[in-house]
Amino acid sequence: MNKIKISFFTQGCRLNQSETASLKNGFEEAGFKVVDFDGDTNLVVINTCTVTEKSDRDTRLLINKFIKKNPKVKIVLIGCQAQVWKEKLLALPNVVLVVGNEEKMDLVGKIKNIRPHPLLRQGFGGQALTPSPQVERGDFIHVTEIKKRSFTIPYASVEKTRTRANLKIQDGCDNYCAYCIVPYARGPVRSREFEDVLRGALELVVSGVKEIVLTGVNIGNYGTHPLNPPLFIQKEGDLNYKLEDVLRELSAIEGMGRIRISSIELTTLSEKLLDLIAGNEKLCRYLHIPLQSGNDSVLKRMGRKYSVQEYADFVRLAVEKVDGICIGTDVIVGFPGETDAAFQETYEFLENSPLAYFHVFSYSDRAGTKSFEMQPKVANNVIQKRSKFLRDLSEKKRQEFRVRQVNKTVTVLFEQEKNGFWTGLTDNYIRMQLKSEQNLENKMVAMKLEDVCCI
Ligand code: SF4
Repeated sequence: MNKIKISFFTQGCRLNQSETASLKNGFEEAGFKVVDFDGDTNLVVINTCTVTEKSDRDTRLLINKFIKKNPKVKIVLIGCQAQVWKEKLLALPNVVLVVGNEEKMDLVGKIKNIRPHPLLRQGFGGQALTPSPQVERGDFIHVTEIKKRSFTIPYASVEKTRTRANLKIQDGCDNYCAYCIVPYARGPVRSREFEDVLRGALELVVSGVKEIVLTGVNIGNYGTHPLNPPLFIQKEGDLNYKLEDVLRELSAIEGMGRIRISSIELTTLSEKLLDLIAGNEKLCRYLHIPLQSGNDSVLKRMGRKYSVQEYADFVRLAVEKVDGICIGTDVIVGFPGETDAAFQETYEFLENSPLAYFHVFSYSDRAGTKSFEMQPKVANNVIQKRSKFLRDLSEKKRQEFRVRQVNKTVTVLFEQEKNGFWTGLTDNYIRMQLKSEQNLENKMVAMKLEDVCCI
């Protein structure tokens, strides 16, 4: 029997990437053939992002692209856009199923269940491509309110390239920052069950993954009560397991290469975590802590729950405690009411900080967020100019950070070879290259950083 061919496209963040990887493995286990989305396929699943209005436009462009290539293709939209704009999505051409974040990890079941439906049977070999009016819309929209409860993920998040893999440990956010749609799309803070995190990590290690990147929306809020006694650590009193416990337990797994924490909020960071990183070589000396603005009044209007001084104090402590740590950040440029003086303050703060790089986001209005209504808006040309200043500054800071690491011994995880040079990342996020005739793919090698160039 011919297998149904299914392909996946991921928009947006690391969390979406990790979920898509798990879904691919789930569909393979269920007997589907997972193929490249550029090739011949029956179904395309787009794991959507809705963080900006551009993400929504990108989804529509993608759909048009897929239909142009294969007019009979069936499209399934899952994830954040599905959660927020479900009705609108089902009206798009060739879209046969819309599944929100609460239900998307059960997509295998949902697709298997609708396969015998006349609409889809006809569509797989015939013409009908959009839901007909006589079909209940409920059959094709699976979006419910996201509940605050711990979760498990039934499939491993192993990707084809096994060097590095994302491991989802948390979802949702309760912060409701003024510019952000994520809490509406991802729901309240909740955590993956502790045992399930361990199982997911073990699967990755066994499959040969050397670096695990812990992902979530707000991973510093990780906390669950384990169902069974943990394997390696004993806790007394507080039985709610935190991020530090996940790090300790995962780093004790035999064969674990290293663990990286993805983006983490300042309000959830502690000195205890820094001590853990400093004392455990399996934990990457790396933190990405969103700042968003270097001006207190802008931070307040954004709904961020820290001051610039608190941010500066923590970054200084991190640099003191963890030798060679790479700290990166996110900055939003042109938030409503950001004056020239407020921007200048942000610029000077970043320039004088030990931060190693920044991701610069030009503010754009997002319907459904609080800042959509805020005034005065900053002119687009001003936003672009300020963004360029910060991107240039980020490059300078990145180079300065690399120069500070020269002559230090670092561990590199090599990924691929090009023209005789192997490239890989150090635990503190420096891209290295080494001329070698040996096969270094997926090998961790301790070496001295000799020189800095722009690669
Ligand atoms: S912390 Fe703020 S910016 Fe981050 S996901 Fe939550 S609401 Fe969005």
